[in-house]
Amino acid sequence: MDLKMLYELQGLQKEMDAVLNRLRELNEAKDLGKLKEEYKRLKDEYLKGEDQLKKNAYRQEAKSNEIKNLEYNKKASEEIKFSKETDTVKKLENIEKQLDKIEEKKQATENDIIGLMNEADNINKELIETQKRLAFIKKKYLISKDAYDKAIEELKAQKEELSPRIDSIKNEIDKESYEVFNRLTKTYADPIALVERRICCGCRMEVPAMDYEAIKSGDQDLKCQNCGRLLYYRKP
Ligand SMILES: [Zn+2]
Repeated sequence: MDLKMLYELQGLQKEMDAVLNRLRELNEAKDLGKLKEEYKRLKDEYLKGEDQLKKNAYRQEAKSNEIKNLEYNKKASEEIKFSKETDTVKKLENIEKQLDKIEEKKQATENDIIGLMNEADNINKELIETQKRLAFIKKKYLISKDAYDKAIEELKAQKEELSPRIDSIKNEIDKESYEVFNRLTKTYADPIALVERRICCGCRMEVPAMDYEAIKSGDQDLKCQNCGRLLYYRKP
């Protein structure tokens, strides 16, 4: 069996597996789900803020109209106060009470408007902050995506480089060796174990002296008695 070739094939396939795993990981991570979620959350927050601002504007307008009405009522009551109609102290007192009430209400409505204006200010500040964060996340997303794309391109290039080397060994190697190798790969990711200093690199156990001599001479293909991997002695 051509153990040298098989060992090379095993090494290339291991590299290829690592490249493919990394590619799969990167393609999953590239989706950048967390950033997308955060972006969506902020976008919703922003739209909610805009909606609140719109409602706030309506309420301010309603309050302004209320004030206009109150001013109209005030004017009407003042006209009554100074007309001939108001001819008793009682009537005068009543109309003045009414005027006081109108004034009170107007003051309260003006305070409401000030409150609404403050609220609108705060909403606007929050909207600006949210917009900044949205821009930041978008930038981060694009940078990350770019980095992922680059890493993926590199891995694809590695794949392109490994693929023909693997194919050429597969074509060159004798059918029987390849079949044995394939059968063994069902049990071990690395079925060919290098023997170094009489140690099987697959399981780190010592190879018996007789086996060692046999594989050294290259006459015989032997499996490790401990782990069952094919032992490969690389001639110095
Ligand atoms: Zn072993």
